[in-house]
Amino acid sequence: MKSAARAEIVVDLAAVRHNVHTLRELTGVAMMTVVKADGYGHGMVPTARAAREAGAEWLGVATLDEALELRAAGDTGRILCWLYVPGEEYDAGVAADLDLTAYTPAELDEIEEAVGDTGRTARVQLKIDTGLSRGGSSPAAWPALVERARAGELAGHWKVTGIWSHLSSSDEPDDPANDAQETAFRAALAVAEAAGLEPEVRHLANSAAAILRPSSRFDLVRCGIASYGLDPAPGETPDLGLVPAMTARATLALVKDVAAGDAVSYGRTWIADAPTTLGLVPVGYGDGVPRRAGNSAEALVAGRRRPTRGRICMDQLLVDLGGEHPAPGDDVELFGSGRDGGPTAQDWAEAADTISYEIVTRIGSGRMPRRYVDSDRPDLSEVAPA
Ligand SMILES: *Cc1c(COP(=O)(O)O)cnc(C)c1O
Repeated sequence: MKSAARAEIVVDLAAVRHNVHTLRELTGVAMMTVVKADGYGHGMVPTARAAREAGAEWLGVATLDEALELRAAGDTGRILCWLYVPGEEYDAGVAADLDLTAYTPAELDEIEEAVGDTGRTARVQLKIDTGLSRGGSSPAAWPALVERARAGELAGHWKVTGIWSHLSSSDEPDDPANDAQETAFRAALAVAEAAGLEPEVRHLANSAAAILRPSSRFDLVRCGIASYGLDPAPGETPDLGLVPAMTARATLALVKDVAAGDAVSYGRTWIADAPTTLGLVPVGYGDGVPRRAGNSAEALVAGRRRPTRGRICMDQLLVDLGGEHPAPGDDVELFGSGRDGGPTAQDWAEAADTISYEIVTRIGSGRMPRRYVDSDRPDLSEVAPA
């Protein structure tokens, strides 16, 4: 399809389905597809639908707002959220039958109020901090949290539906922190079980652990990045045939000749040592393209990978066409599935000294519009945004 878009993100929903299905088959436990941060930049609602189609029993998001947006879009399945501030709209969360994570007795107090307001039984999951030192109860505070949760359950306020934790170093499978956290998690489960809690799901693993650490799978795995086809642990992950779902593309704006000695872009950080041609690509850090990747990342133009030259600007960047003259209007692929020989989000992450998560999430929250395709349904290759 010919597209005159200056720049756009193309998301292949078939790739999301394929990845979720592959991960589910591999792990053999229930699947939570994590769609926070607008589906890691891929669009939360369309990717959530694709994940459900592929069998995801759960969706995971950070905030209550995200969870409520999924409900508003018609999702009726299990949804877990886990990040709040005091005074949050727990009433809406309870009314929407969300699984609400509690880290502290104070959060349980707020949920209890919401139960009173709505007249509904809540679904509560408890999080134990086993070593990330982010959200969750410390092991020292855990017995009191568990007692409070059990008392509220006996009083009919809620059902404790899950107990979970999160790993710090799952992308480094040999790090002893993984064993230590899993051991701490098992100890926390024992405390909860001794107090009479019988959670439906116990879960610890994100994408990297789900793939690399079978002992961490418990009843459910929470897969984000791998669902989008990106490698959660570069250099460690076996080839599972996951397919990157996002392509970031632009239209070549201009092709120009430069002479030896000509400097390129702000600060003159690249100077041509021989005559060449430059392609002007109309995207920059205002679109979420990392400025740090200038002089390092590549883009696919006219079938070849072309290095960026000079600094990446707010709205534009330059690639070296090596003396060739592809036509303005030609396609520029910043990154995509990699199947066409072009760069991937992982390549851009390495060029920008970051992780692929940040590449797709940022570019997906910039000004490039998103377009959905479905490579399994060519007749529907253009899918209306949800
Ligand atoms: C974001 C997140 C995940 C998903 O992690 P991936 O590495 O993308 O699979 C899982 N669990 C929690 C608590 C998260 O915040």
